[in-house]
Amino acid sequence: MNLLFACILCCLFLAINSNYAQDLNIIPKPVYEVTTNEKYILQNGSDIYITSGIKEVKRLAEMLKNALHRRTGINVQVRKGKQNKGILLDLNSNDTMRTDGYELTVNSKMIKISGKSGCGIFYGIQTLQIILRKDGNFYFPGCRIVDYPRYSYRGFMLDASRHFQSIEFVKKILDVMALLKLNTFHWHLTDDEGWRIESKKYPRLNEIGSYRDSLNAVERNGYYTVEEIKEVIQYAKNLYIKIIPEIEMPGHSRSVMESYPELLCPTNEGGNTYCAGNSKVYEFIKNLVSEIINIFNPEVIHVGGDERPRGVWEKCPKCREMLSLKGLANEDMLQNYFMKDICSFISRKGVKTIAWAENIKDGVPKNQIVEGWHPGESWEAARNGYYTINANCLYTYFDYPNNNEEKKSKPDWMPVLNLEKVYSFNPTPDSLNESEEKFVIGSECALWTELVLENDVQHQIFPRILAFAEVVWSPTGNKNYENFLSRVNAIKPFINSRGFEFAKGEW
Ligand SMILES: [Zn+2]
Repeated sequence: MNLLFACILCCLFLAINSNYAQDLNIIPKPVYEVTTNEKYILQNGSDIYITSGIKEVKRLAEMLKNALHRRTGINVQVRKGKQNKGILLDLNSNDTMRTDGYELTVNSKMIKISGKSGCGIFYGIQTLQIILRKDGNFYFPGCRIVDYPRYSYRGFMLDASRHFQSIEFVKKILDVMALLKLNTFHWHLTDDEGWRIESKKYPRLNEIGSYRDSLNAVERNGYYTVEEIKEVIQYAKNLYIKIIPEIEMPGHSRSVMESYPELLCPTNEGGNTYCAGNSKVYEFIKNLVSEIINIFNPEVIHVGGDERPRGVWEKCPKCREMLSLKGLANEDMLQNYFMKDICSFISRKGVKTIAWAENIKDGVPKNQIVEGWHPGESWEAARNGYYTINANCLYTYFDYPNNNEEKKSKPDWMPVLNLEKVYSFNPTPDSLNESEEKFVIGSECALWTELVLENDVQHQIFPRILAFAEVVWSPTGNKNYENFLSRVNAIKPFINSRGFEFAKGEW
């Protein structure tokens, strides 16, 4: 037997042995993981050590301590210093570590989680929570994991306009997003059906725009107060999740138009679209956006921009006057002018903008991130040099039915989106070249709630959000659907214990 062959046999034996040793069943699958036959038994005295006095690491240690106590009843202490025992949280300046990455080592004596940032340590803690086991004792399987994300933007969008969810429920969603290492919560807070942000400057948005349902259905009427929103923002921040509020314009704005009908084109009574020829509209939106920026203090704000009803502006004398004043060829060009004006105002406040892909060929505002939802839009954006989020609806719209049975109660145009299809999604297709690829910064799965009440959100997002988390976190080379399915079944009881049921029927 030559040496190479012996080495291969040896590696094979180790791989098989480690596979049989213990399955970690982590979702999303880490970049690198290897298991051993050791285990770390959690008991009184399994204290958490922090090497840094930084407040953030201490907060993470307390968070882990509380999570362990909740699940096992075991009390551990947080201590400063470094010992060759217990659970060590190590803020590490190692330059080879990737952004938001972490390393986790478990042996019979200790557990070590290293990260270059608090976020990295936080993700290591999420993984540790997933691998907690019990066989008489609570324990963690011996392993070595090196892990980091594929994309920087890993989002989930929740529509709070069509049906409205409680703050407590939103926090539960954020918890499970963090567990799956998703880092962006896109909050769709305004649309035709309802305005969901408290506005002190324009109170009719709440008095009229937040209460459009004459039947007074609880989940179709209401709004979040400024205090509630701030509470959610802080909650998300502790979980390393950014919140991107979305304010729709110029279409999808019936709740605003009913509150302030003077913002409509005079020829569009009962419509849902701001008049682009009225200077008061620009002033209104800028005041409103300023108020929203003050509440959210966001890095990025989503300004909608999709599905403006065509033909409305062409009929309006004010809009036609604006077209000729600015020398614009048609109403699509007028939308570009409108969005550029609002976006440059927002950008001067130091806030970035995202909008749904529309009229890419005519140019979108400078530095705006394009969210593609029709197939191919994100590739077009990337080829034109715009940073883009590929939220291709055929893979990421979780209001679509999980299976054929569910399809019977959904609109005809909605295709079935099963778990395997979500898992097969690649936000950066091979057809993009290397210089274009870098413009795809990630993806987002979305739950539109026209037909979804709060209690049904769980059935629409689980288990599909597990597949999505793996799409945006794990390297494509690690993907294997059969292996993923076995991990889905293994993690299901843990997700159930966090208060979420899976879809009914087939996935
Ligand atoms: Zn008009």
